Amino acid sequence: MSDILKIEGLTVAAEDTELLHGIDMTVGEGETHLLMGHNGAGKSTLGCTIMGSPEYKVTGGRIVFDGDDITQESADKRAKRGIFLSFQSPVEIPGITLSEFLRNALEQVSGKRMKLWDFKKQLKAAMALIGMDESYAERDLNVGFSGGEKKKAEILQLLILKPRLAILDETDSGLDVDAVKTVSKGIEEYRKSVGGTLLIITHNAKILESLKVDRTHILSNGRVAKEGDGELAAQVLESGFENTLSGVEK
Ligand code: ADP
Ligand code: MG
Repeated sequence: MSDILKIEGLTVAAEDTELLHGIDMTVGEGETHLLMGHNGAGKSTLGCTIMGSPEYKVTGGRIVFDGDDITQESADKRAKRGIFLSFQSPVEIPGITLSEFLRNALEQVSGKRMKLWDFKKQLKAAMALIGMDESYAERDLNVGFSGGEKKKAEILQLLILKPRLAILDETDSGLDVDAVKTVSKGIEEYRKSVGGTLLIITHNAKILESLKVDRTHILSNGRVAKEGDGELAAQVLESGFENTLSGVEK
């Protein structure tokens, strides 16, 4: 399997403070990886840096996507390559409906105009899949959406935009059991029908139950402290980060 993402010796700073101190990570195409670590470990920083957020400055090392060095590339170019990041807290956009937002995003990423009819058909199918009422398509993006509905809207983006690499930053936080199930189902559908690669930041045992995890990376203080397979994630959930990382330099 070819590597879709290779991170080599990555150091990252924001406001003159180094936050990531030499991250190495390789993700194979089609794999599902977990990014874990205590609050403030640097997980979101890494996710945002892979996406190209201007908030973070790469001060060393490189990010290679599908064989190309993208370290200095803008976020919109990365999005066109098929990199997708879901935010920990999705924004509300009054005046733009969910449907308009998705169609616009799809056209931006693909560079092609899409017939409204074809788009609506695709949207309807994706909404049915994750049990989202069709009326949401015509509501303003995330405005008045519950936590669960916002997350569903994100999963919808995954199914419509079909990114090659999806980074999900705590997509499951604050959700009730049913919403977690829906998110899991959406992720599974993305994996199956799109064949996409996932880098998932989560602490949610329920989500992990339904995922086949290829590799787990645990961050601590801006470094990769430990790596392993899906079992490592189970160990973290059972005994916590402190125990899992005991004896490891943090
Ligand atoms: P995690 O997602 O693992 O909880 P973050 O990546 O959000 O952690 O944060 C890692 C560390 O970097 C924290 O100490 C946080 O305060 C700091 N940090 C994150 N973003 C910025 C920023 N834009 N400017 C300054 N410090 C930041
Ligand atoms: Mg975070």
